[in-house]
Amino acid sequence: CGIVGILGRHEVAPVILEALRRLEYRGYDSAGIATVNTGQLDRRRAVGKLVNLSDLLVHQPLVGKSGIGHTRWATHGAATVANAHPHRAGPVAVVHNGIIENHRALRAELAADGYEQTSETDTETVVLLTRRFLDAGMAPVQAAMATLARLEGAFALAFLFEGQDDLIVAARRGSPLAIGHGEGEMFVGSDAIALAPLTDRITYLEEGDSVVLTRTGAVIRDAAGAVVTRTVARIEMDA
Ligand code: GLU
Repeated sequence: CGIVGILGRHEVAPVILEALRRLEYRGYDSAGIATVNTGQLDRRRAVGKLVNLSDLLVHQPLVGKSGIGHTRWATHGAATVANAHPHRAGPVAVVHNGIIENHRALRAELAADGYEQTSETDTETVVLLTRRFLDAGMAPVQAAMATLARLEGAFALAFLFEGQDDLIVAARRGSPLAIGHGEGEMFVGSDAIALAPLTDRITYLEEGDSVVLTRTGAVIRDAAGAVVTRTVARIEMDA
């Protein structure tokens, strides 16, 4: 029930794990992390406590300075590794909190087009949609935006792409999401508490906002697609 994304200057998996720990209070049944390392997308997922994910990472490390992480509170599909986030379809991985209300219709549409789900989640329709847009020739940001336009429900989402070491696309509709501004690093998370050890400069996204993050900054768009400026607030460090 929490998401984190980091475009960092150092190895990011341990930092994401720590941020997920700070979201533990929300409750969860499984967790996972995906990274991009010199273009290559990879992920690890584990059921149960975060220690299971950190143990897995000891044996199968995840390298890379860009990544997304998730703690899941299952709404669609049991708490299994296959249903754990990040979900992936080819060159795109996604973490998601909330519910995609029109997942059944999307799943049928995608299956008819040859994009079959492998999990029981509503979330997998998101990555399959994005993959279809990428296959149709769209660039990653464009594909993520086109995907968001097809989704109904209440959610927060973060997208990570193969071949893109300096890109996270995120969006909020109904679930909170905050951006953290670092020095040559950028962060996104379900709340400021998760980001508190990383930066004290936070932008709270507003309802319907989407954001394109790179290490040099954040371009925020409102629900209508217009580029907007949102306040950067200084928060008290309680880390
Ligand atoms: N609906 C998604 C799932 O069941 C996301 C749940 C969550 O918010 O953690 O996988």
